[in-house]
Amino acid sequence: MGLLSGKKGIIFGVADKHSIAWGIAQSTAAAGARLAFTYQIERFRKNLAELTKDIANPLLLECDVTNDEQIEEVYRRVGEEFGTLDFVVHSVAHARREDLAGKFRDTSREGFKFALDVSAYSLIAVTRPAVALMPNGGSIVTMTYLGSERAMLGYNVMGVAKAALEANVRYLAADLGPLNIRVNALSAGPINTLAARGVPGFTDFAKYLREKAPLATKTDTAQLGDAALFLVSDLSRGITGETLYCDAGYHMVGG
Ligand code: NAD
Repeated sequence: MGLLSGKKGIIFGVADKHSIAWGIAQSTAAAGARLAFTYQIERFRKNLAELTKDIANPLLLECDVTNDEQIEEVYRRVGEEFGTLDFVVHSVAHARREDLAGKFRDTSREGFKFALDVSAYSLIAVTRPAVALMPNGGSIVTMTYLGSERAMLGYNVMGVAKAALEANVRYLAADLGPLNIRVNALSAGPINTLAARGVPGFTDFAKYLREKAPLATKTDTAQLGDAALFLVSDLSRGITGETLYCDAGYHMVGG
């Protein structure tokens, strides 16, 4: 029997096989979970269907996280198919390229709102309807980055969005704790994904980090998948409102 045997989860944010969300899907599926996946736009459905062909009975649903009607429809379908839900993985973020590449002081009002809406508010939006499907409790996990607490070159408005996201985690955890629903963030070291390639200087920084991090290992999606598996399973039942770092230890070294 797997750690997630009989459990059901929904994963937001698989774009391709390099996505962190895909690493989480592999770990949670291997542990026995039944999974639903969302894709941002119809064009991505085919890719996701191909990727998930070896996953048992996956449910694939369209969802732009800025669209409340689509979110509602996702949970209606998940409720219909699964009855109840045990975990939600939120692995979604986006900012306009010009708001990452330029000077931080030039961040536009629209760009700020966009980044915060897609990357931070969306956690609240996908958590709220999950509550009704978690009568016996559950676990919500989101993906964050050290740029929330340190001014990282090229991260700009996304750093502000991640700070808001981590605050969302704490407030949601306080709100939902009495319902035995836990909310945690997983802070990843750099991984070469579609989203990461939008961050100027990503490759150089990833190299720098590998030289400085205590563990002589590169963060990969399998490590994040297993860390997320811990957070969505009962092994972490005493943990909520936390940011867990999976970054080869880089976050705590100086210099
Ligand atoms: P990715 O590009 O594979 O995944 C990002 C996902 O966000 C994609 O599936 C994309 O479709 C989705 N998305 C963007 N806008 C959306 C919208 N409006 N509605 C629905 N979905 C939307 O990249 P990734 O690196 O796997 O990113 C996943 C998460 O991990 C993000 O929150 C990212 O900030 C975080 N993260 C990544 C790294 C890294 O180095 N790759 C490090 C720390 C944190």
